[in-house]
Amino acid sequence: MSITKPETTVLKNYIGGQWVASSGTETLEVPNPATGEVLARVPISTKEDVDQAVQAAKKAFATWKDVPVPKRARIMFSFHHLLNQHHEELAELVVQENGKAYKEAYGEIQRGIECVEFAAGAPTLLMGESLSNIAEEIDSEMFRYPLGVVAGITPFNFPMMVPLWMFPLAIVCGNTFVLKPSERTPILANKLAELFTEAGAPPGVLNVVHGAHEVVNALIDHEDIRAISFVGSQPVAKYVYERTAAQGKRVQALSGAKNHHIVMPDADVETAVQHVISSAFGSAGQRCMACSAVVIVGENETFVRRLKQKADELIIGNGIDPEVLLTPVIRQSHREKVLGYIQKGIEEGAVLLRDGRKEMDDRPEGNFLGPTIFDYVTPDMTIAKEEIFAPVLSLLRANDLDEALSYIRKSRYGNGATIYTKDAKAVRKFREEADAGMLGINVGVPATMAFFPFSGWKDSFYGDLHVNGKDGVNFYTRKKMITSRFDF
Ligand code: NAD
Repeated sequence: MSITKPETTVLKNYIGGQWVASSGTETLEVPNPATGEVLARVPISTKEDVDQAVQAAKKAFATWKDVPVPKRARIMFSFHHLLNQHHEELAELVVQENGKAYKEAYGEIQRGIECVEFAAGAPTLLMGESLSNIAEEIDSEMFRYPLGVVAGITPFNFPMMVPLWMFPLAIVCGNTFVLKPSERTPILANKLAELFTEAGAPPGVLNVVHGAHEVVNALIDHEDIRAISFVGSQPVAKYVYERTAAQGKRVQALSGAKNHHIVMPDADVETAVQHVISSAFGSAGQRCMACSAVVIVGENETFVRRLKQKADELIIGNGIDPEVLLTPVIRQSHREKVLGYIQKGIEEGAVLLRDGRKEMDDRPEGNFLGPTIFDYVTPDMTIAKEEIFAPVLSLLRANDLDEALSYIRKSRYGNGATIYTKDAKAVRKFREEADAGMLGINVGVPATMAFFPFSGWKDSFYGDLHVNGKDGVNFYTRKKMITSRFDF
């Protein structure tokens, strides 16, 4: 008897409250990065699919914008409840499609839930301002209004958190939304749409269109799309920013990173090592706030020795195993690119302190790479300048804090930076002079929570208003000023 393998599911788009097959004929595999098992196929949707989703969102906007703000907020409370109920299941989905460790995935779901908590505060967040008597018997008031249909384009590395940076706040502000998740991690987006609908969101308020760059271009260019939120790699972020801004539309584009951690001579070595290890190698280094460069101030061979020891002890494997910290990178093709960077580091004269390539073949079924550490890296080397987005860490040496800060200034990126020290004067100097938007003082991943903006600088961000916090509310609303005369 021959057993026929069932056809792998082709994911559907979610449009106007219905699961709709894409009109595109091309599909891509969505493999589990740890096992190679094909979890689903994602359709490469077309311009026509995008138009259908935008039309559904436009139709929904006509009524959604008038739904009272407390009622919109109540949907967020229900959504929050459902996300909590499904916390473990969502984390498992993230492990399967992204490959990160279960603990990290669980934390990511929590981060997403916090965005919904923030959005649930809509009645306070959306309050306007007023001033009576701006002139005799004349008052002035400001009200906030939604923009219309807005779109979000998201990366593979946070399939839960990044979409939730966007659609709950956009929607609670009265907009309707089209989400284009990463084609490499599309499965969780459909689960989010399902739960959001169960929470009471009317049809067309949230739509999901799967696909790649054609979908992105169609969203940017669609006449009924008012704003674009983007998170992804630097070249694409810049492209999306420029193409959207050229059409006079509102855009925020969060981009790549190269985050420096300064280890001062007085730093507690064990604390610094522990934070650097989990920041550099957690999620296989595929976090926009990952430590990718350590700047050691002065001689500190104890730090280097302990770092290497801890890297040697890391358990590598499938993230579903609770013991594992180092998980695979997203695709074989990405690992190939990373191997090119390792080769470049060697050619440019950096010292390969720990070669993670030796662990690659231990699990040929997944895209594994062991922790890789280069020492004596200089700021002009390719591996110091470019985002590698993998478990590859560079150690740079500096004589003093001024020199360490100059390395951060030299970087084109400015997402995050951290200092390990107990010296208050060093902390203050770092806070004032570090050229990055999110700083950590003895903190390995200084990512902000939902009520603050996620505020990268330089080439880590294109736009004015960041995601989350008051910036997020300002991004997803426009203001109307009313001036009233009463001296009649
Ligand atoms: P990516 O740029 O490859 O993809 C991001 C999105 O853009 C996806 O939805 C993808 O389909 C789309 N896209 C890809 N190429 C495109 C093109 N040529 N034209 C139009 N759209 C295109 O990014 P990724 O590899 O999925 O994510 C990792 C990157 O995201 C890293 O650079 C990381 O630093 C960055 N990131 C930044 C932040 C931040 O807050 N700054 C947060 C998370 C991730």
